[in-house]
Amino acid sequence: MTDLTSMTIAEARNGLAKKSFTSLELTDAHLAAIEAARSLNAFVLETPDRARAMARAIDAKIAKGEGGPLAGIPLGIKDLFATKDVRTTACSKILGDFVPPYESTVTSQLWRDGAVMLGKLNNDEFAMGSSNETSCFGPVVNPWRREGSNTTLVPGGSSGGSASAVAALLCMGATATDTGGSIRQPAAFTATVGVKPTYGRCSRWGIVAFASSLDQAGPIARTVRDSAILMRSMAGHDPKDTTSVNRAVPDYEAAIGKSVKGMKIGIPREYRLDGMPAEIEKLWSEGGAWLKAAGAELVEVSLPHTKYALPAYYIVAPAEASSNLARYDGVRYGLRVPGRSIGEMYENTRAEGFGAEVRRRVMIGTYVLSAGYYDAYYLRAQKVRTLIKKDFEDCFAKGVDAILTPATPSAAFGVGEKGADPVEMYLNDIFTVTVNMAGLPGIAVPAGKDAQGLPLGLQLIGRPFDEETLFSLGEVVEQAAGRFTPPRWW
Ligand code: GLN
Repeated sequence: MTDLTSMTIAEARNGLAKKSFTSLELTDAHLAAIEAARSLNAFVLETPDRARAMARAIDAKIAKGEGGPLAGIPLGIKDLFATKDVRTTACSKILGDFVPPYESTVTSQLWRDGAVMLGKLNNDEFAMGSSNETSCFGPVVNPWRREGSNTTLVPGGSSGGSASAVAALLCMGATATDTGGSIRQPAAFTATVGVKPTYGRCSRWGIVAFASSLDQAGPIARTVRDSAILMRSMAGHDPKDTTSVNRAVPDYEAAIGKSVKGMKIGIPREYRLDGMPAEIEKLWSEGGAWLKAAGAELVEVSLPHTKYALPAYYIVAPAEASSNLARYDGVRYGLRVPGRSIGEMYENTRAEGFGAEVRRRVMIGTYVLSAGYYDAYYLRAQKVRTLIKKDFEDCFAKGVDAILTPATPSAAFGVGEKGADPVEMYLNDIFTVTVNMAGLPGIAVPAGKDAQGLPLGLQLIGRPFDEETLFSLGEVVEQAAGRFTPPRWW
């Protein structure tokens, strides 16, 4: 049944409509693939019974011609999305076996449109990380390996399970979230397509909060078209999230194949880092050349506050996280470690329930928000954030339609290779955090391989709510670069 798992969502949609196969067959093929790939540790919970029941129900609907845009398509769900009656943990011990009595808005829209849930996907604990090594369920393995080597590589993070599962053909697409790069960086590490929508485009309701002013949900898929198909179902206004924007959801798929002739593509000077691998430089200029060949115009632009984005992010994100994570106190959810007093119970629960990286963020966040340091750190970082946003606004005001950058400063690295120094891990987000700080949409598209055969991605950054331009440009890159699938070894 491998042919059923290697199809794109667009192909499967046609096959289902023509009744070449059923959703149950498609779902079974994916469930078998998941079972055979447990060594990748991409899923933290498989829900085969639920998947088959959903597939049977949608098959009956398809038979009556009542499908829906995602009718019968099997998906994986990042374990940060609350799924009604299905364990949701954010891959943290502190949530224990928490089973939400409600469904996140984004996933409920996927089920409304006919998608099938295969299970819950691994991620960094509370989405804090860039390698999926902070999960309480253990690291996820990247299906990609360096040529001639069997070193285990990370899939990136925090949506490492989503990226690994999509790349390894375990699901046709997956939900993911991006606070500083968690959709785009793992997409780049696994040759998948990842979209971080404009802040406010997708509802955050029912998604475990990390840093609420930066968090956005988005899809990871194998093609630009598939990511556009998923985006249409995931996006939309939700009165339950006050930051969700009331704007019509466009037909993103219609943007695929649209001419990019005459578009102005900004190449930001400040993203050319000292010591950046030559392969990344090469990929970046190749990407520019492809867009130029398609009729776009390349212009050098300046985003002068870029160098402050990463330090400012690592103040704002922990500050918001420390506040959001205050709710995990052993009273309402999951784990409770007793103590002699209620205070001791809180302390014991939080000390045991949170992993090292999460504790570090809570401490940094509490520090930068504390009375004596608030102005020096948090307020200052917020001012820097405004300047970063203004850099992009100035650039778009000059007629730039989108900005092209590398997605990551390197290809995937080995499990355990980085992390002794947390800053080394944080540097992975250097090209992606600016986009979250400015609330803009970004897409990562596979664009080539490094000398060791590992995938590399390019990032396109768009104007607010102009995801469509990113899909048009992303597809040009995809057409020129081709698609990449990891050889199966697991
Ligand atoms: N790697 C970044 C962090 O650890 C971003 C994570 C994310 O986008 N969720 O904060």
